[in-house]
Order: sequence, then structure tokens, then C-alpha cells
Amino acid sequence: MTATLIKGTDIREEILEEITQEVAEIKEKHGVVPGLVTILVGENPASISYVTLKIKTAHRVGFHEIQDNQSPDISEEDLLALIDKYNKDDSINGILVQLPLPKHIDEKKVLNAIDPDKDVDGFHPVNVGRLMIGGSEVKFPPCTPYGIQEMIVRAGVETSGAEVVVVGRSNIVGKPIANMMVQKGPGANATVTIVHTRTKDLAGHCKRADILIVAAGVPDLVKPEWIKPGACVIDVGVNRVGEKISEKTGKKIAILKGDVDFDAAKEIAGFITPVPGGVGPMTITMLMHNTLRSLKYKLGLI
Ligand code: NAP
Repeated sequence: MTATLIKGTDIREEILEEITQEVAEIKEKHGVVPGLVTILVGENPASISYVTLKIKTAHRVGFHEIQDNQSPDISEEDLLALIDKYNKDDSINGILVQLPLPKHIDEKKVLNAIDPDKDVDGFHPVNVGRLMIGGSEVKFPPCTPYGIQEMIVRAGVETSGAEVVVVGRSNIVGKPIANMMVQKGPGANATVTIVHTRTKDLAGHCKRADILIVAAGVPDLVKPEWIKPGACVIDVGVNRVGEKISEKTGKKIAILKGDVDFDAAKEIAGFITPVPGGVGPMTITMLMHNTLRSLKYKLGLI
């Protein structure tokens, strides 16, 4: 293997440790800790497991956390009233509504009801606009792109003047990470190209990339010959390609694969993220980071 592995599992530990220390310092000086509420509607097993992990991480870094579980037949009106309650609650700095919501509830309406200054997921149109403007306007970068940028920076990869190619144009990964990398400022200042299913020469674009960020959801989409020698390859894709029995628990678990042919790519790239254990652990980590940021804004510390 020639590439340096950028491990999200290690960077997560580093960042969570920094957050824990900062939370303790703020508690000592200001007598408050960040407050995070997670609203879970219904009993979708995947949602329960995400929420459990978020709550566990919030606990670990010393946050005040509330898990607000609601029945699947809660009305849209009652859910909006609940959000309004947390918008007005001074002890809460971040509000998360776990998706998907039941069909009778308009997801967009619910997400847009969250106070943008408590929208630590960074998906509210106000925060999308702030991200687009860049600089000091930005409050909460969306968590997965924020995690990707943090991995690139912490790995010591130069972004200024770099050719960045982003595969995928979704609202949660492709578009925001492209927007973040093109901004004026540290960890950015790149020349950015976004490619998608209508792009004519996908391979040709990828081959120019000093930093290749792949978020397509197609296993092994990126071939080794598409990678520029020494490039930094960030594989966001998480694809279930089968099942196996876990050696640890003896239970069935999913076999996961990224969007990049990792085994071949690692011999060409300069830096590469694995799947699993790459970008995955960064999302909840940056969610904690944003919740802490929210309290810091409130206290006038940033
Ligand atoms: P998405 O909404 O399905 O978007 C995929 C994008 O990739 C679309 O813009 C699509 O182009 C493009 N694309 C798909 N196939 C392509 C191809 N053959 N050639 C070129 N472009 C192609 O997906 P997403 O939500 O951004 O997620 C992408 C992947 O990242 C998924 O595997 C997801 O599980 C993973 N993910 C991981 C994390 C994490 O680790 N924390 C977080 C979020 C997502 P069109 O727009 O033209 O259709």
C-alpha cells in the first residue's frame, strides 16, 4: 500500500476529545453545557440505532441531551408545536428531527420550522444560504461535508489551488462540499468541478483531481486508472453489498463497500479513506461540533 490511510475513526476520537475539553472549560467559566434534543417519531430500527448513537456521543462529550420519542401517529400540528417548544427552550442549542418521518407529515415543513440558529444539521434554507455566502456568515456547515473537509485538513492535504472533483450533486453531500471547497479561506480556495450522471467524460474529470471526493452510492464506480497518482481520495459511498456473520457478536451484519475500488486505488493515491471507518464516523462527530458551536454563538464566544 502506498497511500496514507485517513481514518475517520481516529479523527473522530481526536475531535471528540477536543469537544469534551471545551465543554468542560465552558461549564467551568459560564456554568452551562450544550443542549441537544433528538426527536424520533415512530420505531424505525435504523432510526433508533442512529438516534441511540447520537445520544451516546452527546453524553460522552458532556452535553445535556434529551431523547424525545413520539408515537408514529403524532399529528403534523403537534410535531410543529413540539419543535416550537424546543425553539423557545434556552437550555437547547441543537434540535434534530430523525428522518424519515411518517407519510402523513410533511418533512420539509417540519425541518423548516426549526430555528436556523438551532439547526445543527445545517439543512435549513437559511443555513444553506449562509454556507453559499461563506466566511463569517457560515454557522452550521452540514455534518458530512464538514467532516470531509476536516479529514482533508487534518491529513495535511493542501487545498489552496488544488483541483477538486466531486462525484455527485446531492443536497446533503455533493453540492455542499463543492461549495465549501471553493470558498475563500483555510481548508478551501480550491478549483472545483462537480460531476454527475449527465457528465460526458467522468473518467477524464476524475483523472485531473488532486482531491477526488466521491459521493455517488455506486460500489466501485471509480476505477484505479481514474485516479491521479498521489491524489487524495475521499470515498463517501456506503453500499451494502451482502451480509456476513460478525466475529464479535455472532450476528448477521452488512458487508459495506465504498464508491472507489479501494484495493487497487490505495496503490495509486497519496491519501485514501477506507469504507467502513472513513467518512462514516465523521457525521455524528461534526454534529457534536455544531451543537457546541451553537452554544458558543449564544455566549458570544464566536
Ligand atoms: P444521492 O442523493 O443518491 O446522490 C448521488 C449522486 O451521485 C447524484 O448526484 C447522482 O447523479 C450521482 N451519481 C450516481 N451514479 C453516478 C454515476 N454512475 N456517475 C456519475 N454520477 C453518479 O446520494 P447521497 O445522499 O449524496 O449519498 C451518496 C453516497 O454517500 C451513498 O452511498 C450514501 O450512503 C453515502 N453517504 C454517506 C454518509 C456518511 O458516511 N456519513 C453520509 C451521506 C451519504 P444525478 O444527480 O445525475 O442523479
